[in-house]
Amino acid sequence: MSEHPKDKPIILSGNEYHEFRKLIAQRAGYRCEYCDRYAPFDSETQVNGEVSHIGKRKFYGDTPSNAKWSCLGCHRKKHDGNLTA
Ligand SMILES: [Zn+2]
Repeated sequence: MSEHPKDKPIILSGNEYHEFRKLIAQRAGYRCEYCDRYAPFDSETQVNGEVSHIGKRKFYGDTPSNAKWSCLGCHRKKHDGNLTA
């Protein structure tokens, strides 16, 4: 990840995080990167997919290399500890 581990991670919010999500969704071709299910990015509701952080967000932040596109089912599983990145 970062070559400077003491640097503060980039944590996006608001519209920047929205754009970040869009980028990750586009990169993944709107398919979940865990189960390959179609998980389109919906700019209105954002209910179909979510960014899944590979390393903890508070340490590694919101960077493309630390993010995978995930359907809601896999995202929930990951947070329940049933799925590893
Ligand atoms: Zn999935």
